[in-house]
Amino acid sequence: MDRREAILRELNLYPQWKRRESPLPVTAVEVPAADSAVQPEAPASITPRVSTTARDAEIPVELREQAKTETSGTPAVSPLSDVAGLDWPRLKQRVSACTICKLRAGCTQTVFGVGDEHADWLFVGEGPGADEDALGEPFVGQAGRLLDNMLMAIKLKRGNNVYIANIVKCRPPGNRNPDADEIASCLPYLQRQIELIQPSVIVALGKVASNALLGRDATLASLRGKLHDYRGIPLIVTYHPAYLLRSPSEKAKAWQDLCVAQNKMHESEQPTEK
Ligand code: URA
Repeated sequence: MDRREAILRELNLYPQWKRRESPLPVTAVEVPAADSAVQPEAPASITPRVSTTARDAEIPVELREQAKTETSGTPAVSPLSDVAGLDWPRLKQRVSACTICKLRAGCTQTVFGVGDEHADWLFVGEGPGADEDALGEPFVGQAGRLLDNMLMAIKLKRGNNVYIANIVKCRPPGNRNPDADEIASCLPYLQRQIELIQPSVIVALGKVASNALLGRDATLASLRGKLHDYRGIPLIVTYHPAYLLRSPSEKAKAWQDLCVAQNKMHESEQPTEK
């Protein structure tokens, strides 16, 4: 065993992801029995040019209602209305100054997102963990190393035509899942990031990210293996890298998901017939 392999084994990142030369076409990708084919889902919402009111409407009602009231009972100043239209510098500034939900009080810093601001690929996780909270960048811990490996497997690299962001920008204490009100408060920031990036494909990492983006409350198993739509952008659901670290046998399924995403990207690169 050479040193590299030893390190990868230590990190639970071995065997390494290797890109097959010709990924399977979408229709040939094997999906779990429950998901017999990769089928397009009815779009969650297709409103490429969204008004402020439409943006609010896209947030599930129950999340919106919870976002209106902070735990203290004081109505929160909802950021829903005024992040639309912010450019990158103002959006970054707004996020770093945000105290709308209770997460900000318990974290070190906000974690905005990282990468190519015109990327074709957008990967969305759940929220910062301890490493991300300390460094201010998404996916820099062990799960992040696996994500980098997954990117490498499809010939991608962090920052190079890839943007990585999270649903919530502040670390939930003790790595708990973000609450519905926290997601609702933070989602407009990600929505604006997506409008600015205009990615060709979104890969949602894990159940929390997938449900938040799709406005659903579904199991990951029921969301995987289907082609979803986020405002006209193809969205593929896969396992969160942290879950894959705990369940390495699921990596094969995540690889299938990435192949689907890659095929979708290739499709989007084809000139459209007139
Ligand atoms: N998990 C996430 O969902 N996001 C991160 O940035 C790190 C770990």
